[in-house]
Amino acid sequence: MFLEPHYRGQRSGWIEAICGSMFSGKTEELIRRLRRAEIAGQAVGVFKPETDSRYAKNDVVSHDRRAFPGTPLENASLVISLVEDLEVVGLDEAQFFGEDLPGVCEELASMGKRVIVAGLDMDFRGKPFGPMPELLAVAEYITKVHAICAQCGNLATHSFRTAADPEQVMLGADDAYEARCRHCFRMGAVLPFRKVMSPRKSSDDGIQQKLIE
Ligand code: ZN
Repeated sequence: MFLEPHYRGQRSGWIEAICGSMFSGKTEELIRRLRRAEIAGQAVGVFKPETDSRYAKNDVVSHDRRAFPGTPLENASLVISLVEDLEVVGLDEAQFFGEDLPGVCEELASMGKRVIVAGLDMDFRGKPFGPMPELLAVAEYITKVHAICAQCGNLATHSFRTAADPEQVMLGADDAYEARCRHCFRMGAVLPFRKVMSPRKSSDDGIQQKLIE
């Protein structure tokens, strides 16, 4: 589990990135860190892109619906003018911020802020998502969280889209995705995929069998 670094006399802040697939607990981890800072009496603020409209307009809400008050922003650079009094700045759904996100995070860290950024590292095609690769490069700390593969139960790293919409962004459509491991993600991308029903097999046999049917 990630524990907060404590640098006495440090003259700048730092960037913590939390990345992973859908349903991997990124937002839960973000909320956990923000709550700990809040309990310690630190001034905490959290922001998200305006395009993230699921569940609630002004809250950062994880899939289990634990909310943290948040401010929607049209673009990442707006956050600079809003954080003067904050010690800890959280950014959720960071993949939907623009290409200026890494630079903004570096600016915040230079201002002495602890910056915690959560976002999808890959899109539904398994490709790096928006500003996330560059953000991961400039972050001091990276935590990659994993979901459970909805097909085989192994650790999942990919977000597989079960709906046929060609757009990269399908807002508020969590049920159009499922978390998958690399193997099941690849198999699903090649052939129409049917869910492997119980009893689940740990080997590939069940998956192959369903693909043949
Ligand atoms: Zn799998």
